[in-house]
Amino acid sequence: MDSVFWSDGIAQLHPYVPGEQPKIANLVKLNTNENPFGPSPKVMAAIAQAAQSGLQLYPDPQSSQLLDALAQYHEVHESQVFVGNGSDEVLAHAFRAFFVKQKPLLIPDISYSFYTVYGALFGIECQKVALDDGLRVNIDDYLAIDPSSVAGVVIANPNAPTGVALPLFELERVLQHFSQTVVLIDEAYVDFGADSARALLNQYPNLLVVQTLSKSRSLAGLRIGFALGSATLIDGLVRVKDSFNSYPLDKVAQAAAIAAFEDEAYFQECRAAVMAQRDVVTAALQARGFEVLPSATNFVFACHPQHQGKELLAALRERAVLVRQFEKPRIADFLRITIGTAEQNQALLTALDGILA
Ligand code: PMP
Repeated sequence: MDSVFWSDGIAQLHPYVPGEQPKIANLVKLNTNENPFGPSPKVMAAIAQAAQSGLQLYPDPQSSQLLDALAQYHEVHESQVFVGNGSDEVLAHAFRAFFVKQKPLLIPDISYSFYTVYGALFGIECQKVALDDGLRVNIDDYLAIDPSSVAGVVIANPNAPTGVALPLFELERVLQHFSQTVVLIDEAYVDFGADSARALLNQYPNLLVVQTLSKSRSLAGLRIGFALGSATLIDGLVRVKDSFNSYPLDKVAQAAAIAAFEDEAYFQECRAAVMAQRDVVTAALQARGFEVLPSATNFVFACHPQHQGKELLAALRERAVLVRQFEKPRIADFLRITIGTAEQNQALLTALDGILA
């Protein structure tokens, strides 16, 4: 469908289609990498308090208290922190601020699909670098590219939907090679077993680290993401943000995020529980004949040698278990399965036993 009312180029856009958010209850929902354990009780109390204190006034447009809290937590200056409405919005601002340059942006060929959506939206050509045979990001392939020929680099670490993480020294090679362009490391899942590139911030002014509270902090419903980088990069993001949405975070989200970073004990307990369940699910899938990629995330990416991904997806859905499958070359037979509670994971395995029998 096209419309005479639309701006040029709108008809060519193919928006990102998120995983299903089902309208019916009682489904075992392991399809969009949410955290099954919910936010800390202290976060729930902060949300109630923020709402009770009145919502008639606009929130702090700068989210200053939250910036302070994030700066303290991540041991950077507050001029090095940026917050947005989910890391999706932070990514959008970063694409707009750093990569609109008449040169292609390097991304892995199999990665978070929003990158190409934003590329199309902002007129950025995305040059895809193939994952290697083990579905890993191969840094040597990036280093073979002339750094002056690209607008920047985006790498999700751990990558999605594969779940595979790179060690920091590999990211450093990219940061050094592409020193004159922004290297954005999307760390949506970093808290589940990978090393954060935030440790490299002081050495690399071209590094932008993007994180979210949707996964390890269980706050996908509130939409809070943030970026850490040099003050120059953050200044670029603020210019785009203020031109677009000068109130990115509402009052409730700001209060919740501050409380989330205050409750370190809950955070540690929660991520440990997810990682322990990931080990259980990985072993159980392997015992059922699946190949499971090594995951540093709150999901596993697995394929069965005798069954098509599409077939398993449908059969699980019939048994009220939702997982994700991508109709893309090389990964169509993989299922991306979010780690749930012990009960949810058991329901997945029981359903698979029925299907594989
Ligand atoms: N990056 C990656 C790699 C993701 O998988 C997701 C979640 N779908 C996001 C960013 C966005 O997360 P959010 O907008 O909830 O912060």
